[in-house]
Amino acid sequence: MNLSYWERTEMLDYDLVVVGGGIVGYFTAIYYAQRHPNARIVIVERGLFSSGASTKNAGFSCIGSLSELEDDLSQMTPDALVDLVLKRYEGLQELQAVLGAKNIDYQEVGGYELFFESPDIDKITYFNDLLEKALQSRPFEESNEKLKDFGFSNQIKGLIKNNLEGTVNTGKLMVSLHKKAASLGVQTLTLANVLCVEENRNYVKVAIGKNNPEYILKAQQVALCTNAFSKQFCPDIELNPGRGLVMISKPITGSCIKGSFHYNSGYNYFRFINGRLLLGGGRHLDKEGETTTEFGVNEKLRKQLLQDANHLIVPNQKVELDYVWSGIMAFGNQKNPLIQKVSDRVVVGIRLGGMGVAIGCMVAREMIKKFF
Ligand SMILES: Cc1cc2nc3c(=O)[nH]c(=O)nc-3n(C[C@H](O)[C@H](O)[C@H](O)COP(=O)(O)OP(=O)(O)OC[C@H]3O[C@@H](n4cnc5c(N)ncnc54)[C@H](O)[C@@H]3O)c2cc1C
Repeated sequence: MNLSYWERTEMLDYDLVVVGGGIVGYFTAIYYAQRHPNARIVIVERGLFSSGASTKNAGFSCIGSLSELEDDLSQMTPDALVDLVLKRYEGLQELQAVLGAKNIDYQEVGGYELFFESPDIDKITYFNDLLEKALQSRPFEESNEKLKDFGFSNQIKGLIKNNLEGTVNTGKLMVSLHKKAASLGVQTLTLANVLCVEENRNYVKVAIGKNNPEYILKAQQVALCTNAFSKQFCPDIELNPGRGLVMISKPITGSCIKGSFHYNSGYNYFRFINGRLLLGGGRHLDKEGETTTEFGVNEKLRKQLLQDANHLIVPNQKVELDYVWSGIMAFGNQKNPLIQKVSDRVVVGIRLGGMGVAIGCMVAREMIKKFF
């Protein structure tokens, strides 16, 4: 198609092109706009909505359950773990400061971890001691007394609360990001698949099209915020995709307790929303099958989650599903995200694991501070 004079002169040239319209892409555009108020910035997203993890997640605002942190300690030093948890905590504060707690329905209702055997109470003391200085609080406490009120199956023998965790409304969060970016003059192109990003001496060519380049944007700098899908642009990076499953039940009666809940070392999670049960996870049941960038529902996981709903979480009710969907995350050998230059004018900010709600804005902030 021939481009018009107007399109050619006003709509192809940018200071920053952000590829990927998820949490990181939007925050990157927002922070860049705040630093360079007159800059021309566009977010290019291949889906109609964000089509990876940011509109598909479960909306848990997490800094890490006790057994997740214990797991992390087997891969990193205690100091590195404190830094990681602090970054998540600060990310949650920043998320509220930038978007407004009310706008994203941020609720610090506490995160609870369920145990099938009585947990080792000494671990609570250990992690509270480790984190107290950085967080200015002792986040963990035993909450076994709540088990009776919560009404879970009697297979659950222990409950540990993390007072700094809670929930957000994922849809409201993304809509707030759209509004904030638009208010700063950031443009967004959706249904725009980036085929390749090619740097020459004076600028970067960003080719958009379904199978063949149909439009070429010209950018002074490019931020690749494509998380699980980034191997398309940087085949050598250390990154594995991980599909996640989330389901929401039909309305249920009774137990609509407040909190975000995890079990099986954080692999499974649930919470109640508007009189329905939201639950998800279970990737550990088929890690190989779920290491994919393809959306889809793994029947083995779906069945197990439904069984957990009926036997573990609300054992006195028959839970029926209303919504079932998947999303794609990105993992690496270490928990830290990957923020680096791939060439003079191109930077990546990716690999957020299952903590993007907390660290999405921090990844963007670090990218901007270091490279833009
Ligand atoms: C099922 C599920 C549940 C989760 N639950 C939670 C939770 O409760 N709490 C939490 O903190 N985190 C959770 N996460 C993780 C969190 O959602 C992610 O860490 C976060 O959304 C990552 O944001 P992102 O912007 O890096 O990536 P994404 O949201 O994946 O954004 C990347 C974007 O790039 C776009 N893109 C890719 N390739 C191209 C291309 N070639 N051209 C144009 N656009 C392209 C994609 O369409 C996508 O929109 C969950 C994730 C999933 C999948």
